[in-house]
Order: sequence, then C-alpha cells, then structure tokens
Amino acid sequence: MPGLSPIAQNLASILARIAAAAQNAGRKPEDITLVAVSKTHPPEAIAQALAAGQFTFGENRLQEAQAKFPDLLARHPKTRLHLIGALQTNKAKDAVKLCHMIESLDRPKLADAITTAAAAHGACPDLLIQINIGDEPQKSGIPTADAETFIRFMRTRFGPSLRGLMCIPPAGADPTPFFRHLTALADTHNLPIRSMGMSADFETAIHCGATHVRIGTALFGAR
Ligand SMILES: *Cc1c(COP(=O)(O)O)cnc(C)c1O
Repeated sequence: MPGLSPIAQNLASILARIAAAAQNAGRKPEDITLVAVSKTHPPEAIAQALAAGQFTFGENRLQEAQAKFPDLLARHPKTRLHLIGALQTNKAKDAVKLCHMIESLDRPKLADAITTAAAAHGACPDLLIQINIGDEPQKSGIPTADAETFIRFMRTRFGPSLRGLMCIPPAGADPTPFFRHLTALADTHNLPIRSMGMSADFETAIHCGATHVRIGTALFGAR
C-alpha cells in the first residue's frame, strides 16, 4: 500500500483481521471496537492513526495520557480515550475529567473516588470492571471469587455507566477458557462490553465474545 504511513498500513491489516475473525465467529465486524493502545508512543504516532481514521485510544498511565491527549482531543473532537491501566484514588478526579472510559475499576476504594469525582465533574465516564481472570497474585483486578458480588455492587452504584468487564489473561497459557469466563460473567449480568484480547490473541478473543480489543504493538510497533 504505497503512500500510506506504516501506522495506516498496520491499521488496515488489523481491521481486516478483526473483520475476518468476526465473520469466522458468526459476528458482525462493526460490533467490535479497536482500542489503539498508544502507551509509550508519541503524539505524532497517535496523529497518524487519527489521520487514518482510528479514533479510540487506550493509555495505561494517567500521567502519560494527561501529557499527550488534551491537545489531540481539542484538535480531533471524535477522539475517545480509554484508561486501561491501574488508577490511584488520588488521580480519579483527573481521570474522570480526561477519559471517556475507565477500563480498570478494580476495588471499592476506587469506586468511591470515582463516585466523588463524577459528582464534582457532573458526568461519569463509562466504566469497566477489571477482573483478575487468572487469579494471579501480581495482577490487579477483582478476584474471580468476588466478581459476582462486586459487579452487583457496582451496578447499584453506577447504574448504566457500568458498561462491562475487562481482563488480561495469564501470559503463556491458552487464553480461551479465560476469555470464555469473562464473556459468561458479562452475559450473566447483562453487561454489553467485554474488553479482552491484545496483539497476540485478539482473534481468539473475538471468537470468545470480545467487543473491544486493545491493540498496541501490532499497530504502533514495538515499545
Ligand atoms: C499494553 C496493553 C495492551 C496492548 O498490548 P499489545 O500486546 O502491545 O497489543 C492491552 N491492554 C493493556 C491493559 C495494556 O497495558
């Protein structure tokens, strides 16, 4: 594809793979949202993706997002920013102001901080609960044993702002059972969004019911 930036070429190929995976799974490509994970990459790379028609981005550190996104959001009003990494309670106010979606709601204290911040801001971003789907001690997320209770609690707390679930399955294992588990949990609670799948496994995630795939390396290159 001569004339296209490397990022535009990568984007076209990822979108084609998403569409093929959706079709293979009997699903509609338009029901799957690509979250372009731009962490560590400069605003110029994000601008290239925007120019190629990609509007939804994910950052895992709020401070980095604050440095990169206010400008891009002002220039490209269709841009949507998802926070996909751990959030400290003392940063909840800034996150609520800047982000359209927080994918990493993972503890009651953070829910309290988001509630306070959303009340002050006058609006609540969309929220996903991060589930520690492999119950790994080093990973954040709600342990699977506590998921049902926490989801119900957050539903009562946030109402329709609670949109779904997010997970990162254990590295080096077949992600299929973990992805299926997340989809089952979301189905049980009537939550429409399942954010799962990254560069290495997004097709499997789509097969297992992902509505949002978070892709960094395959789009922007190695970090
Ligand atoms: C970095 C990151 C991704 C993207 O990972 P790639 O393998 O580069 O596609 C997805 N989700 C989260 C939570 C991340 O931190």
